[in-house]
Amino acid sequence: MKFIDLDQQYNRIKDKIDKAVIQAISDGKYIMGPQVAKLEQRLADYVGVKNCITCSNGTDALSICLMAWNIGEGDAVFTTDFTFFATAEVISLSKATPVFVDCCPDTFNIDPVKLEQQIIKTIKKGRLKPKAIIAVDLFGLPADYDEINKIAQKYSLKVLSDSAQGFGGIYKGRKACSLGDVATTSFFPAKPLGCYGDGGAVFTNDDSLADIMRSIRVHGKGSDKYDNIRIGLNARLDTIQAAILDCKLDIFDDELDMRNNIASEYTKKLKDYISTPVVPKGLRSAWAQYTIKLPDPSRRSEIMERLKERGIPTMIYYPKPMHQQTAFSNLEFDSEDYAVSEKICSEVLSLPMHPYLTNEEIEKITSSLLEIINS
Ligand SMILES: *Cc1c(COP(=O)(O)O)cnc(C)c1O
Repeated sequence: MKFIDLDQQYNRIKDKIDKAVIQAISDGKYIMGPQVAKLEQRLADYVGVKNCITCSNGTDALSICLMAWNIGEGDAVFTTDFTFFATAEVISLSKATPVFVDCCPDTFNIDPVKLEQQIIKTIKKGRLKPKAIIAVDLFGLPADYDEINKIAQKYSLKVLSDSAQGFGGIYKGRKACSLGDVATTSFFPAKPLGCYGDGGAVFTNDDSLADIMRSIRVHGKGSDKYDNIRIGLNARLDTIQAAILDCKLDIFDDELDMRNNIASEYTKKLKDYISTPVVPKGLRSAWAQYTIKLPDPSRRSEIMERLKERGIPTMIYYPKPMHQQTAFSNLEFDSEDYAVSEKICSEVLSLPMHPYLTNEEIEKITSSLLEIINS
């Protein structure tokens, strides 16, 4: 059993993918071939926004946005304490200062009440200028955008939605990647919509911002290829990866349904005994991960070891919150502000999750887990 099984997906659409890859190679348009523009249109239509700008990966997608907003030294960018490092990394890379916000114990996403508290705290300190919020759709579940956007409006902040794990999710009738001023996603192979290498995308309804981001994607190009009008990146998506994603998008909605069915099966079998993921009303998760909280965190490594002996792989997403990362040890913060994320980091355990898990596998995983926990 695999934690994420990409072979089964490949076998399902092998003929199409092989053909598309060979076509891309024989066409010879390796950089920004027509497959890239086609994919951008399809993704924009899928999400329901005007502009999709594909790029090199989900981390660069975040950077492109912060660069387009001119975020830099002296600026504060608020983000969740419980996320993958890249979300916070790009803030420091832009020379701005990350201000971490504790998360909700049930959804794992940024806590809007604590977000406002951190904004007020930062304003009171007076050293940094609050500029933006990066909300993360952790494990595939959209963050609470109604509340986040309300707070952003109140303090004139931009909202960047890091939906690297969230593509395909739904928030009150709206698709993930259409929430906030700008949204980004990742096509890293293990994400809900993954390619066969690195890839990412930025989404926005703001046409002029989209033009700036297209320029940043290619060395800050102007209308003349050899007159560069700003400092940018080399951050394009490969044509071959666009061709692969075009094939995978065809089966994406079906795979989302499969993920949702698997998550329901897991929850049905586990919910009476352990803390299972919460999906608030009106939301749909893309189920990048299925993450439970163990009743006795001190037993986590033993439980993982015993599951492994039975051929069941599990992962810890994530063992360490942002405020405890060595790279951020220079930042000032009050550690008592992060009681929830610290606790969660000790409790979480992610179970195998991909669209092709069988009922037999789910039964094996859940019965083994409950047996081990109760022994
Ligand atoms: C994966 C991920 C990223 C980075 O995406 P890459 O394509 O690997 O650069 C950013 N944020 C979150 C929340 C992620 O899970």
